[in-house]
Amino acid sequence: MSKRMYNGLPREEIPWFPRVDSKRCTGCGTCIRICPNKVYRERDGKPEVADPFGCVVGCSGCVPQCPGQAISFPSLIELRDVLKSLETKYAKKAR
Ligand code: SF4
Ligand code: SF4
Repeated sequence: MSKRMYNGLPREEIPWFPRVDSKRCTGCGTCIRICPNKVYRERDGKPEVADPFGCVVGCSGCVPQCPGQAISFPSLIELRDVLKSLETKYAKKAR
């Protein structure tokens, strides 16, 4: 499988994916059903983040759909900082 990229950066170096608080999760399955990229899969009645780098960078569409408020993402400020440093890293490599 070819390496996934995001704006010329390796997707797997961008730490943007959901985390599920298993104590809050009710196991309703909404996140598994609604994620178009199949980031979650069901395991023992709870969602597991099976394909973290399949998540759309900067999107957190499943967060408000979760009745248990169990899903969290890094902040957009953290994301911006990571993207900036990766852009610098890969711009240097290209020179
Ligand atoms: S939507 Fe929230 S409560 Fe429902 S399974 Fe997913 S994480 Fe758990
Ligand atoms: S933000 Fe979108 S792509 Fe990412 S896990 Fe949630 S529903 Fe899936």
